[in-house]
Amino acid sequence: MKPRLLVMREIDHHFLDYLSNYFETDYQPSFSREQFLTSLESAQAILNYGIKIDEELIQHAPRLKLVSNISVGYDNFDIAAMKKAGIIGTHTPNVLNDCVVDLTFGLMLNTSRRISELASTIKRKKWIIKDDVNYYGLDVHHKKLGIIGLGRIGEELARRAKLGFSMDVSYYNRRKKSELENENILWKPLDQLLEESDFVVLLTPLTEETRNLMNASKFEKMKKTAIFINMSRGATVDEKALYNALKNHDIYAAASDVFVHEPINNDNPLLELDNFTATPHIGSATQETRNAMTKLAIENTIEVLINGKMQNVVPELQMLLK
Ligand code: NAP
Repeated sequence: MKPRLLVMREIDHHFLDYLSNYFETDYQPSFSREQFLTSLESAQAILNYGIKIDEELIQHAPRLKLVSNISVGYDNFDIAAMKKAGIIGTHTPNVLNDCVVDLTFGLMLNTSRRISELASTIKRKKWIIKDDVNYYGLDVHHKKLGIIGLGRIGEELARRAKLGFSMDVSYYNRRKKSELENENILWKPLDQLLEESDFVVLLTPLTEETRNLMNASKFEKMKKTAIFINMSRGATVDEKALYNALKNHDIYAAASDVFVHEPINNDNPLLELDNFTATPHIGSATQETRNAMTKLAIENTIEVLINGKMQNVVPELQMLLK
């Protein structure tokens, strides 16, 4: 008998056809809570996007063996609960690196050159030119970029910043990557990186260690002309501290693709600020990249569940397959 796979987001029909070779597929892109709980009863695997896999969900899923995330981040996994229940988790690294980097540059350019802000004045029929130089934005090229969390995506960002924008790039990770020194991508202590950078991009995973990593004392260390971009997860930033830093012009501008509450609360005060840009968690959201992520998540499901191979199993749960 084919294993039962619960598919919880809209995917292209050719993926569903392919899946039917291997699985009894339960396709529920817009399910009610009740339908979802009923489907969980018989599911052996879930093709998942963003749903929290915690103790409560696991209690309703007695046969569950694998959760295959269509994302690289896996902060939706309660690792302890999954370990206890013997549920393996996979993710989709690398296939989205370029796409996330594209948006990061988009947000760096948008905040520094005030693109969406000034473009909206034209739509309001106001072509504004000012003599006051302070009205205009700041350069990106040849500036100092500091990356907090230089992993797969961060390395791509660093190389393209050097190549495309002639930027001077440094990073902070818990571990130095000395192999990058010959590319002149240099490790710095976090405080020094914050003090020196013109752009600070946050790209760590969300963990207990990185929760509220960017707080009031960190924003205080940044230059008044610096720009902060959050591409990681909302909870890595203290949103109130970011609001205060922007409101008081302690930093020049910021952009975030991710928020503590998603969808964002309409009354989130960050949305009132001209020097803040928000995008609705679209770092990997292009047609090509989302299809590549779905394809990889499907391959992960087949390789792990059917062939027993270790493919893109998250490090904390690899011992379940050994
Ligand atoms: P990765 O390869 O695992 O890189 C993460 C980096 O963060 C590692 O180099 C790690 O280095 C560093 N790090 C971890 N904990 C840290 C800490 N406490 N302090 C400083 N650095 C720390 O992951 P990736 O594939 O580049 O993805 C990174 C994250 O981007 C994902 O987890 C996800 O949250 C986010 N993301 C967002 C979007 C979006 O749509 N906005 C899309 C894709 C990914 P050390 O272990 O040496 O510290």
